Amino acid sequence: NVSVVLFTSDLRLHDHPPLRAALDGARQVVPLFVRDRAVLDTGFACPNRLAFLADCLRDLDAGLHDRGGRLVFRSGEVVEQVCRVAGAADADEVHLAADVSAYARAREDRLRRALEADGRRLHVHDTVTTAAPPGALTPAASDHFAVFTPYFRRWSDHPLRKVLAAPRTVRVPDGIGSEELPGREGLSGLSEGLARGGEREGRARLASWLRDGITSYDTGHDDLAGDATSRLSPHLHFGTLSPVELVHRARKAGGPGAEAFVRQLAWRDFHRQVLAARPAAGGADYRTRHDSWRSEAEAREDVEAWRAGQTGYPLVDAAMRQLRHEGWMHNRARMLTASFLTKTLYVDWRVGARHFLDLLVDGDLANNQLNWQWTAGTGTDTRPNRVLNPVAQAKRYDPDGVYVRRWVPELAGLEGPFVHEPWRLRGLDRAAVDYPDPIVDLAEGLARFRRARGLD
Ligand code: FAD
Repeated sequence: NVSVVLFTSDLRLHDHPPLRAALDGARQVVPLFVRDRAVLDTGFACPNRLAFLADCLRDLDAGLHDRGGRLVFRSGEVVEQVCRVAGAADADEVHLAADVSAYARAREDRLRRALEADGRRLHVHDTVTTAAPPGALTPAASDHFAVFTPYFRRWSDHPLRKVLAAPRTVRVPDGIGSEELPGREGLSGLSEGLARGGEREGRARLASWLRDGITSYDTGHDDLAGDATSRLSPHLHFGTLSPVELVHRARKAGGPGAEAFVRQLAWRDFHRQVLAARPAAGGADYRTRHDSWRSEAEAREDVEAWRAGQTGYPLVDAAMRQLRHEGWMHNRARMLTASFLTKTLYVDWRVGARHFLDLLVDGDLANNQLNWQWTAGTGTDTRPNRVLNPVAQAKRYDPDGVYVRRWVPELAGLEGPFVHEPWRLRGLDRAAVDYPDPIVDLAEGLARFRRARGLD
């Protein structure tokens, strides 16, 4: 008998419950990936993520080859393609990882119905893309946690399943046709400094993180110049690394750095359980504050300056340029640039979230939209009206201006505090620096926000 494993955002062989279950239950397995036309049509697939995905698929295929198998790659309508492949292989079962977005859940329902109509079964596996299954942890009076701290307490006590080894052999039936795997060629608009994808790359990064990085994560994670976070986010997004395995290995490493890191992994699960319970929060306010945000059309020049890293606030601009150059941005910088767009410029959080999704290699519906909402104060932040000041943040998290000088070469020659406040230069010194004046007065921005929220 034969089983199909439909890979989605779980592009790995290590610690993969659907693959393990399929191999346990069948003699032969078809590892399948469908490039879903619907996902491409929604515009969710940006070049940076398509490139990383291509790396992941090639690496998955190589890993399967090492085990005597191969990846079957199809494109088109996902349910139709899975049914076709299952039919051609005469498979009894299809295995799939659970996912949280409204689209993924509708896809799962459609797939189940279509397979059942053909006399086949769909098995959906949790703890593939999260450490704790969304919905497994709930407070007494609700279907999900709306506040992180109590969630984290429960999450920390939740028993983790064991890590599964990668299979030694994968036997794929003959005669199942595959299209050619996509590559990076032909993709335009890629960020120059884009990371490489693939399970092997992810595992190598994880090994070096556990060896050299994690112990100082608690003290170093907010240091913008130090760049001392794991950079595992795209691997978690595409599932080249397993969150369950990460939690186990970080706990084993132990110490305050590892504890702080595990807490961030819990944030990832937290946002997923919010999105699973409230799918509309992917686009609509999770909690309305009755904002009358400026739209993109109303704030065109400000939005363009923000996107281009030309706001006149060096730390904001450094971060926005890092995003364009690498398809990635440090968490502290994401918080600051999002606070700046929503609260200081008073622009709709969806405008910023869209731009991030256009570029981020780890761009993820749950993490991106719910972190944007957290920062905009329409999400789960228990202090929804806090506003980050870009100058104060710069002095605290980039005290020597190293991060700003790295990304804003116009300011690279400035000494001391001027690197964060170039507008304080006078006369010829100011004229010598080709860098814009601030596009907004911070006090005015703050006053507008406080008025809009009815705080004054
Ligand atoms: P580390 O600090 O090493 O953390 C380890 C892992 O924990 C990360 O890889 C990530 O999976 C998880 N994590 C860390 N911080 C958070 C957080 N605040 N919320 C949820 N999970 C977290 N993360 C994404 O993966 N995709 C996104 O699209 C995304 N958009 C964001 C947008 C905004 C406005 C903000 C403020 C944050 C966003 N984040 C997003 C969360 C966070 O910034 C990134 O996960 C992190 O910067 C990735 O770098 P890292 O892997 O080095 O993180």
